[in-house]
Amino acid sequence: MKHFLRLLFTVLTAFWITQTSAATIRDIRIAQHTPETVRLVVDLSDNAEAVVFRLKSPERLVIDFKQTTFNQANGARTFSATGFIKGARTGVPNTGTARIVIDLPAEQLTEKHFLLKPQAGNPYRFVIDLTRAGGGIMPAADTSSANTASRISPKRTKIIMLDPGHGGQDPGAISKNGHYEKDLTLKMARELRDELRKEGYKVVLTRDSDIFIPLRGRIQKAHEANADLFISIHADSAKNTSARGLSVYTISEKASDAEAAALAERENKADIILGMDLGEYQPEVGNILIDFAKKHTMEQSAVYADHVVAEMKKRVKLVPNAHRFAGFVVLKSANIPSVLVELGYLSNKSEEKQLQQKSYRKKLAEALTRAVNIYFAETAE
Ligand SMILES: [Zn+2]
Repeated sequence: MKHFLRLLFTVLTAFWITQTSAATIRDIRIAQHTPETVRLVVDLSDNAEAVVFRLKSPERLVIDFKQTTFNQANGARTFSATGFIKGARTGVPNTGTARIVIDLPAEQLTEKHFLLKPQAGNPYRFVIDLTRAGGGIMPAADTSSANTASRISPKRTKIIMLDPGHGGQDPGAISKNGHYEKDLTLKMARELRDELRKEGYKVVLTRDSDIFIPLRGRIQKAHEANADLFISIHADSAKNTSARGLSVYTISEKASDAEAAALAERENKADIILGMDLGEYQPEVGNILIDFAKKHTMEQSAVYADHVVAEMKKRVKLVPNAHRFAGFVVLKSANIPSVLVELGYLSNKSEEKQLQQKSYRKKLAEALTRAVNIYFAETAE
């Protein structure tokens, strides 16, 4: 973990590579987002490749949008100080590059950036969050020494995004008794939210009603919420009605077996049902740092999944090798550890009955919460 962070944050250059095309910067906004975070939002007419890097003495953060131009209003704009940001300005270092320079304070800041796709009347938006050390999702890089003591940062409330599977027109699995997966997942998410809140976590749900949300939209919500952990909740169904048990999935390029692959295919169909292209929201990620982030995220996801299995094992029935791997779309965040829990089989009579019981779901919620506690205690910096 520490080694990874050093590597990530001491390297000066980070890239966000997406499909390139000629884009126009239509607007730039800088605002205090939280007490510890200043957010810069750039409205773009189209998808644009952004290269983000830091310059020293004085400290600056530079964002170069490739094959991008400014509209008239933003071409040579200056911004006054906002929060701990000293100011910002735009410029054109060479033809086809639109640059934004942010003047940073001397204190250490972490940065996180992402691109939002057009949605609900909003254009493409490039977002960068600058967070004070200790206030962000990751601690600031320690560039002076490897002194462990200096790395201890104040505790920040962890944010957990719960994702009740399916919803709206997409019922998910349907039991013989007419129970819908989408209803069970929402109930479970609400109850788990209560448990987690008792422990002091901030909990956000991707949906808190019976609505349809595309899979990529769920990931996007997790990013917007600045989530530290993403838990997608589902229930399985199988032809073989004796199949039962809980399982936890994390992402991998290759499914652990044909059954896992088929399950991921079923769950990923949520978007296809409504005629959406699964690939539509997939950013083309082509940079080694992003790959590091992904690998690290995959490892962290697996750590949490293993804790879930260990805690569940004490309480409920699991499928054999309960931590499994498959290519679920909702698990594809490059930087938020994500797991998908299949609570059990709605196609199994007795398990379906258990899942309808509040006392049984409480056991599940307690195990997931305990796993969260252990996970964050372990990964605490
Ligand atoms: Zn499902």
